[in-house]
Amino acid sequence: MKHTTLKTSDQGKKNGEMSCPNCESSIAVTFSALLVDGKLKCKNPVCRTVLHLNRAQSQTAISAMRELQHGLKELA
Ligand SMILES: [Zn+2]
Repeated sequence: MKHTTLKTSDQGKKNGEMSCPNCESSIAVTFSALLVDGKLKCKNPVCRTVLHLNRAQSQTAISAMRELQHGLKELA
C-alpha cells in the first residue's frame, strides 16, 4: 500500500485551476498565463480580479501548475 500521489490540493480543485480569492470562481491556470504574463485573470465579469504572481500568491499557482504538468504527462 503505497501512496504516491502528492496531495497538493485537498479542496476539491481540478488540475490546472485555482479559486479566485475574491469571488471564488474557478480560474484556469495555464503555462502562458504563469510564464508569459506572470498573472492570472478571473473570468467573472463582475469580479475581474487580476492575480499577480507575487511570492504570496504564487505558491497556489505553482502548485496548480505542477498538477497541470503532471496531468499533461499522464495524458501523453
Ligand atoms: Zn473573481
